[in-house]
Amino acid sequence: MTNMAVTRELFDQVMVPNYAPAEMIPVRGLGARVWDQQHREYVDFAGGIAVSCLGHCHPVLVGALKEQSEKLWHVSNVLTNEPALRLASKMVEATFAEKAYFCNSGAEANEAAFKLARRYALEHFGAEKTQIIAFNQGFHGRTFFTVTVGGQAAYSDGFGPKPADIDHVDYNDIAALKAIMSDKTCAVVMEPLQGEGGIISPELDYVKAVRELCDQHNALLIFDEVQTGVGRTGALYAYMNLGVTPDILTSAKSLGGGFPIGAMLTTSVIAASLKPGTHGSTYGGNPLACAVAEAAFDAVNTDAVLNGVKEREGWYREGLAAINAKYHCFAEVRGKGLLLGCVLNEEFKGRAKEFLNAAMAEQLMVLIAGANVVRFAPSLVISKEDITEGLARFERAVAKIVNG
Ligand SMILES: *Cc1c(COP(=O)(O)O)cnc(C)c1O
Repeated sequence: MTNMAVTRELFDQVMVPNYAPAEMIPVRGLGARVWDQQHREYVDFAGGIAVSCLGHCHPVLVGALKEQSEKLWHVSNVLTNEPALRLASKMVEATFAEKAYFCNSGAEANEAAFKLARRYALEHFGAEKTQIIAFNQGFHGRTFFTVTVGGQAAYSDGFGPKPADIDHVDYNDIAALKAIMSDKTCAVVMEPLQGEGGIISPELDYVKAVRELCDQHNALLIFDEVQTGVGRTGALYAYMNLGVTPDILTSAKSLGGGFPIGAMLTTSVIAASLKPGTHGSTYGGNPLACAVAEAAFDAVNTDAVLNGVKEREGWYREGLAAINAKYHCFAEVRGKGLLLGCVLNEEFKGRAKEFLNAAMAEQLMVLIAGANVVRFAPSLVISKEDITEGLARFERAVAKIVNG
């Protein structure tokens, strides 16, 4: 096995085929650049899907990981640990929340949130209050509960009976939500900017109206900030710019800057419904993950980084507008901070994956969000030089597609 050739073909031989990864295999990263097995260098506008908030191998994260790796890796939740308590204190200090729960991914954070909402409703309002309302095109993870709450039935179909009493309505349509809500609603689950669903921002009065409806029906408002959280939109959490406070918030992706961790934040009153034994995770709140996340959280939660996100958004928007002025392929560029989507116009409709492939050929990593949107979710501290170089590569990719 020592001299085994590690190639892309090996993926097809030994991996479950639930992914279709690109041909190149990255082996090293630094900042917003990545190198493959052939030493080809790529500019990274994907950020590991909104995860690598400080780029690759940021010295602060490497330092935190090295330091903790020589102290204590894992003890389980039979014991607590210092990094978890420090991280929880900082997250509580910086947000509306009074309590934190740690796990290993976004889906697990949402799973905890949904279970907590159901249990809280049971304890405070009785067994009838179980309805969870979520939004079409929403995304909340791939466990069976979270994927069922997600707004694309295709992702949850075909696995047998689904968790029950989950309804979906259109995002940004307050009348639709109002029509379906009642005192049996236990929670409304929303992304404060739909990521996977196509980079769709909520209208400000809409979010306020959702909050009011939740209050009216004693339903909890759950914000899934797995993609928007930890600086992505230019605020520490997106709710902070919306004038609305959720009851439960979930965070993952950028929280660990590349090390797997998820968190659920809530108030003391709501948290009280998760008593010893009601929920848990072997790895959740693991010292290694929490030490890295604490370093990432400290680094991102500064005026310099958060304001820098807004500045970088400006550079992207300028560059993309210039590309669009030449090639006329985007209907609009939408999103917030460094979660941006180029929406393809009628002429290029449905061809986002072609743009991604063309970008990869130009040594630029980008994402898509559905068939019509090319998505960028780069490092929050990506340099102006890397943005300029990446956009130059993007322009070449766009030119190839537009010119056939
Ligand atoms: C990525 C994502 C998730 C799922 O997170 P995992 O870590 O893949 O489980 C959940 N919600 C949103 C909004 C996401 O973007």
